[in-house]
Amino acid sequence: MPDPAPAISPPPHRGRFAPSPTGDLHAGSLLAALGSWLCARSAGGEWLVRIEDVDRPREVPGAAERQLATLHACGLVPDGPVLRQSGRGNAYRAALDRLLAQGDAFHCHCSRADLAATGGVHLHCVAHRRRPDPAVRFRVRPRTRIGFQDRVQGWFEQDVSREVGDFVLLRADGCWAYQLAVVVDDAAQGVTEVVRGADLLDSTPRQMLLQRALGLPTPAYLHLPLLRGRDGRKLSKSEADLPLDPGDPLPSLQLAWQRLGQAALALPSGAGPEAFLDAAAAHFDARRIPRSLPPVDG
Ligand SMILES: [Zn+2]
Repeated sequence: MPDPAPAISPPPHRGRFAPSPTGDLHAGSLLAALGSWLCARSAGGEWLVRIEDVDRPREVPGAAERQLATLHACGLVPDGPVLRQSGRGNAYRAALDRLLAQGDAFHCHCSRADLAATGGVHLHCVAHRRRPDPAVRFRVRPRTRIGFQDRVQGWFEQDVSREVGDFVLLRADGCWAYQLAVVVDDAAQGVTEVVRGADLLDSTPRQMLLQRALGLPTPAYLHLPLLRGRDGRKLSKSEADLPLDPGDPLPSLQLAWQRLGQAALALPSGAGPEAFLDAAAAHFDARRIPRSLPPVDG
């Protein structure tokens, strides 16, 4: 008798936190770090960290190391080596070559000024001049609508062809675009659930299009509420109200926990970040995460 077919087990739950090294970790990024860690841990899964340093012009020297040191001080230690996008050019090139060969990507000579008439949305090439350094764009077919069920924000749908248009994969300055890098890396790291700030909600349909074109799985998505200042803008590293003190991270962790809508934890006196995280993972309930947060002073 032939051996029975081996049971196919589902891939392990794996989450990630992927900061850009454009400044120190602040209350907004800690919310994403803690939220993604809690989702992974409470599901018995793994948690990875990736440094999204493809945008070299925006990078602040030393920021990545300080971010990693702060995560460590918070007790948020990844379950594997930290991946840096700056070393992943070959993987992005392979994905780009595949998209070009499939006819899903094309070289584009349009400038920002060329696209002014369509509000920056690239519907088709309108450049009159050939540039020495063309960008590469993903071709979005007409009437491309993508929707998905977000675990916090609910159903989100976007007409990518009309609202976004053909989007950049490789910039004219030679930098890889965020959308391509994130899709290639989430797949390479085996990420099954993406937990990140809601400012990236409207990037998700683009990333799903790329996953389909590259034959990659689509992870589950959970977009956390954004921390905004009173001016409505996303809180930046310049925020003044909550400096994250790596020497005493517990108050910042507890505030992030509260902002995730979670019930107060009873901690023994003198408890450190590790004791807090143990209790938090045991009591975390993703259904309590609010869709939005009141503005904070910053
Ligand atoms: Zn063009």
